[in-house]
Amino acid sequence: MFGRDLSCLVVVGAQWGDEGKGKLVDVLAEQSDLVVRYQGGANAGHTVVVGSAQFVLRLIPSGILNPPAICILGNGVVLDPVALFEELDALAARGVSTEGRLLVSDRAHLVLPYHKLLDAAGERQQNIGTTGRGIGPTYEDKYGRRGFRVADLRDLGEAARLLAERVAGANERIALSGMTERASLDEHVTLLERMAPRLLPLASDTGAVIHRALKEGRRVLLEGAQGSLLDVDHGTYPYVTSSNTTAGGAAVGSGIGPTMIDGVLGVVKAYTTRVGNGPLPTLADPPLEEELRNVGGEFGSVTGRPRRCGWFDASVVRYAARVNGLTALAVTKLDVLDGFDSIPVGTGYTLDGGTCTEMPAEVKVLERVRPVYETLRGWKAPTGGVRALSDLPGAARAYLDRLQELAGVPIRYVSVGTRRDQIISL
Ligand code: GDP
Repeated sequence: MFGRDLSCLVVVGAQWGDEGKGKLVDVLAEQSDLVVRYQGGANAGHTVVVGSAQFVLRLIPSGILNPPAICILGNGVVLDPVALFEELDALAARGVSTEGRLLVSDRAHLVLPYHKLLDAAGERQQNIGTTGRGIGPTYEDKYGRRGFRVADLRDLGEAARLLAERVAGANERIALSGMTERASLDEHVTLLERMAPRLLPLASDTGAVIHRALKEGRRVLLEGAQGSLLDVDHGTYPYVTSSNTTAGGAAVGSGIGPTMIDGVLGVVKAYTTRVGNGPLPTLADPPLEEELRNVGGEFGSVTGRPRRCGWFDASVVRYAARVNGLTALAVTKLDVLDGFDSIPVGTGYTLDGGTCTEMPAEVKVLERVRPVYETLRGWKAPTGGVRALSDLPGAARAYLDRLQELAGVPIRYVSVGTRRDQIISL
């Protein structure tokens, strides 16, 4: 994907998340000098399989499994220091050296224990189906200008004063929800005193680091988490995440200008899934949904929740192509469809008897659309061992051709299994 004209690439999910971005980033990280996360927090849950080992990375970019790539948690990320050090320790225990390979932005906001209480309090009032990791409340605090940033740790005296204010404010909001639990200031002060000496040496103005790397001709991969339809502006609001998952967020959340980005790769499953609440127009009928879920292993890697499963929805991917400016597509999990006799593909929607060409702004309307299906022939043959497009069964090639045509974006990669080597480059 990288080349003379492409040194800064964004990878985004072009559906509702869990598209297999982690695997694509892992593959592309081999060609990257820097791998940057630009939004979200320890709710990403990328799963990467290296040899016989499976790694679930919630916060650290999957590029960490590809030395010597340097990984960055950008300013747009909300950083849970406890989760970060647990993940670093788990990687060390499995022999992955992260020494000198992870930088964090000193502008990133910290996710603190009181944010998790606020998350639980919020779910009591509005059932969004969050992962409960404090991500949403941390973003709320950021935009409410009452956040706590990595840089605040540089002056521990001042940090303790700020923390007292923040914990008291959070407790007031928790009390309003009717919850009896309260955040403890002592616990927060102790936590930060313990974390600061480990976190601060990793902290810097990472936007400047990325800018410098690009000026020196290095290759930078900006790794999105969740999916485009979960973007706080462009997703199925309010069933969305609290950040901009789409490519525009990559510039803001990594601290570089949009003119420095050369390409945007959209990752899509060969079908569609959704975890949490909110509409999923191409939801499959129960027996087929269960088959997709079981064959595809569609259970959340962070929460274990079963994902709802349905057919490829071209309306969703066309919309994602537009809001991200996608320049290429990676289709994952083609192998999951190997056993189906026929495969429906959603080519568009109807609404109240008419056509519906644009993604509606209201979930209520999206709940009412009816997908228009076209049924394609299944290939009934294993694809997991295929490494060249020409070796795929004809019906699988026809399926991919149709997805590409409907999406209006060229397919560059097809993933046919969980392992790193199970990929076809076009
Ligand atoms: P991400 O958040 O977009 O990285 O997605 P997840 O890691 O949550 O979910 C993707 C899941 O699908 C993981 O368990 C991957 O190992 C798996 N996966 C990725 N690509 C493929 C593929 O081509 N085929 C199959 N069968 N599984 C895949």
